[in-house]
Amino acid sequence: MATQISSLGEFALIDKLTTGFGAVNSSTVAGAGDDAAVIRCGDHYALLSTDLFAEGVDFDMVYTPLKHLGYKVIAASVSDICAMNGTPRQVLVALGVSSKYTVEMLEEFYSGVKAACEEYGVDLAGGDTNGSMTGLVVSVTCLGEVAGDDIVYRGGASKNDLVCVSGNLGAAFMGLHLLEREKHAFSGGGTPQPDFTGKEYILERQLRPRARRDIVEGLKERAIKPTSMIDISDGLGSEVLHICKRSGVGADIYLNRLPIATQTFAMADELKIDPVIAALNGGGDYELLFTVPLDKQAEIMAMPGVDVIGHITDAASGARLITPDGEPVMIQAQGWQPQDVSG
Ligand code: ADP
Ligand code: MG
Repeated sequence: MATQISSLGEFALIDKLTTGFGAVNSSTVAGAGDDAAVIRCGDHYALLSTDLFAEGVDFDMVYTPLKHLGYKVIAASVSDICAMNGTPRQVLVALGVSSKYTVEMLEEFYSGVKAACEEYGVDLAGGDTNGSMTGLVVSVTCLGEVAGDDIVYRGGASKNDLVCVSGNLGAAFMGLHLLEREKHAFSGGGTPQPDFTGKEYILERQLRPRARRDIVEGLKERAIKPTSMIDISDGLGSEVLHICKRSGVGADIYLNRLPIATQTFAMADELKIDPVIAALNGGGDYELLFTVPLDKQAEIMAMPGVDVIGHITDAASGARLITPDGEPVMIQAQGWQPQDVSG
């Protein structure tokens, strides 16, 4: 009998497809299940991660400047290496290109790839180019490096650890909603309001998100090694659940501690969207979610660009959002679904 992919969802599908693959090479330290694979290379470890971006699913050419797209795919890939507490070194970029793309358009895309490579100190080390029947498809593989003692997995959180997040949440999601609204208006479905004054920040967060290499370096400078870490590509709720599942713990996240930018609040208000929903379920921020031991509280609270949003609890209590009146709400699983093709 044929099973619809939607009946499983992304994460259960990956689990189903990857069970039964043991490692035949002793150098394969960790495979599927974290932000990057961990591979032993002599006295250090290589980190290997790959991401696929498809036109119409991950980006919409109506409002995505190609230069920004080139930057974003590299940043997203570098972000997975950062989430393992590693240093990104090389990227491979594979393209599937349909006939509507010109040489100049692809050069524009590569100018963004170059800007990101320079910013994150990674080298474009190769790739592949092919045709595509369905617009642009981009695959980025990032290779990074980490010392054995520095590797941070999703599975290392333990009870009483502090749950921390870098930057702020939900801005990329609100930027996407703004762009979608304008696209709809321009195609005759509403009144266009092309003035983006005061909305530059959320637009930039959607179109040109940054990988938080600076946070990984900042933690290292302070001699704080997170007990677990993941990057926020799918939304805080989903990532908290990943850490809880892999670590065998629960977490209490305090709603009034979620860092939300002013422009995110303003856009949420204008579009009648709950900013907390944007912070919890909105993907694309590429911030880092991590846990640190309780005895690092003073140091982590003093670190710029990092907020403590909760703590780790027993697995039995699950992952919960604690509202300002103290009510716990269970955090629901999110993730890619095959019907999510709105861009
Ligand atoms: P991220 O959001 O950090 O890029 P994903 O949620 O895409 O991670 O993937 C979760 C884990 O599942 C990763 O360890 C990834 O390597 C693995 N994975 C995803 N898709 C596949 C696949 N088709 N085959 C094997 N492993 C996969
Ligand atoms: Mg990741």
